[in-house]
Amino acid sequence: MSDAIQITGLRKTYAAQGNAPAKEALKGVDLTIRSGSIFGLLGPNGAGKSTLINILAGLVNKTSGQVTIWGFDQDRNPRQSRAAIGVMPQELNMDPFFSPRASLEVQAGLYGVPKAERWTDELLALVGLTDQANAYARNLSGGMKRRLLLAKALVHRPQILVLDEPTAGVDINLREMLWANVRKLNEQGMTIILTTHYLEEAEQMCDEIAIINHGEVVIRQNTRDLLSRTDGKTLVLDTGGPATLPPLPEGVRQERRPDGRLAITYPPSRLRADQILDALRGAGIPILDVATEQPDLEDVFVELTRA
Ligand code: ADP
Ligand code: MG
Repeated sequence: MSDAIQITGLRKTYAAQGNAPAKEALKGVDLTIRSGSIFGLLGPNGAGKSTLINILAGLVNKTSGQVTIWGFDQDRNPRQSRAAIGVMPQELNMDPFFSPRASLEVQAGLYGVPKAERWTDELLALVGLTDQANAYARNLSGGMKRRLLLAKALVHRPQILVLDEPTAGVDINLREMLWANVRKLNEQGMTIILTTHYLEEAEQMCDEIAIINHGEVVIRQNTRDLLSRTDGKTLVLDTGGPATLPPLPEGVRQERRPDGRLAITYPPSRLRADQILDALRGAGIPILDVATEQPDLEDVFVELTRA
């Protein structure tokens, strides 16, 4: 299987309700997600990320378009396409009376996993809930509930795991546990799709990224190419005090940082760092220290979602 997910012309309009007008949340999304990848779906609040994920999960009905999961068309083969995917939702929705163990058993039952093929104890260990296996869900902390949601998404050993804002508002331990598990599952061959607000996290975790804004995919690229899109590098200089700069080539911006250092941003496609440093030295400006900064995903994201 080369493509884990194929989405063509996907549209979703939520119907008007009371005073709220109808809302077109997805406006014709085309997206292919390669199997074996860790794919990041990014976008500002309200962009349509959860709508897309909930359609993949079968929790929201699409208005039109085609969704193929692991080669199965969602409309023609709903059972097979559902079996291929496990979703850890953004919302904490759980039955307060089930223990983690019971909750996993019920979920396995819903997916028709035979008793002999269940891996409840392994899953509890995987997410660090072995000690709480028999506690009531209502007595679990928020972090433990999230761990349980991850385990629930995995009961039927799906080929594709989808995580919707898994680390929003969670503590550092849980975040590390989540990413360690995601990496491990991916190494074992699972395709991972995640949304996150933390762009640094996406930059570190994802091979490929799509940015969605106002219900449309504005870009989809591998992470490295996406980062090289922004034609700007920054030299941060310690000039030992205020300095009057010589005229610099067109396209070069300068800014004095609060710490007194001078930041010079230039387009690496047209200029080299040594040309800028030579110009400064030529004007008699001392350069006591130099650091360089690369653009990060935040810069690209801001540029693409400004509208
Ligand atoms: P994201 O996950 O990127 O923040 P969502 O998919 O949750 O975005 O929402 C996309 C848009 O659809 C938003 O304008 C949101 O208010 C709207 N929306 C989401 N769910 C519903 C719903 N159940 N009914 C009506 N509008 C909704
Ligand atoms: Mg969301």
